[in-house]
Amino acid sequence: CANRKMHQTDTVIDVGGVKIGGGTFQIMAGPCSIESQEQISEIAVAVKAAGASILRGGAFKPRTSPYAFQGLREKGLEMLINASRQAGMPVVTEIMDISQLPYFEDVDVIQVGARNMQNFELLKELGKTDKPILLKRGFSATLTELLMSAEYIMAGGNEKVILCERGIRTFATDTRNTLDLSAIPLLRRMTHLPIIVDPSHGTGIRSLVKPMALASAIIGADGLMVEVHNHPEKAWCDGQQSITPETFADVAKCVRDVLPYR
Ligand code: PEP
Ligand code: MN
Repeated sequence: CANRKMHQTDTVIDVGGVKIGGGTFQIMAGPCSIESQEQISEIAVAVKAAGASILRGGAFKPRTSPYAFQGLREKGLEMLINASRQAGMPVVTEIMDISQLPYFEDVDVIQVGARNMQNFELLKELGKTDKPILLKRGFSATLTELLMSAEYIMAGGNEKVILCERGIRTFATDTRNTLDLSAIPLLRRMTHLPIIVDPSHGTGIRSLVKPMALASAIIGADGLMVEVHNHPEKAWCDGQQSITPETFADVAKCVRDVLPYR
């Protein structure tokens, strides 16, 4: 059960030795999409050196347009796993349909994207696995709905759920989404599960990643998910919100600097 009332102590999830929750702060970083072995390998080494503990990268991409790049799919997953082994860090990547699960054997954390937060049949199937699940908040989901989706996974026996605030859709169109930072302290009261923030999709604007990352750290988030690309202007997906490894190193350092003050 996700409810704090039933479970007072914070849940700590071990991802290949990386502990998420319970006062730690972990950064997941990498490109929106895996584009080639060279691309993901180069980014992996760079984000690890800059302080990321988990490598992200999309292989199965939930694109708004069916004509947009859909991801390198299982080939992309192979490249991601290779890069993670070279860099020595675990990986998180999105699943869109349970038929893809056989490809996820070597994946450390399975991501359920905002668009699938209420795909209850998918959640039930993931509840039967023993992999940590990163559950992203739907565009129009309340926190109670987010927690109910977590319960779908937990009810199947998999209690390893990490929640992610990634912005919601509001009337405000100056940003891609409206990052709901109040969700962090509120969820903290409602649940014992770890909660991370994705300032990249949450804002859609590169220059907003650092201030939102710092704010997230100060208000008690358990970590971040940040899109990093070695050539953001050439990224196949979400370049406008992607930061370079150099900028990421600065963000990670500044976040570490503020952690003692929370
Ligand atoms: C992602 O993290 O790659 C992604 C597609 O995010 P979201 O599901 O939050 O839109
Ligand atoms: Mn993206």
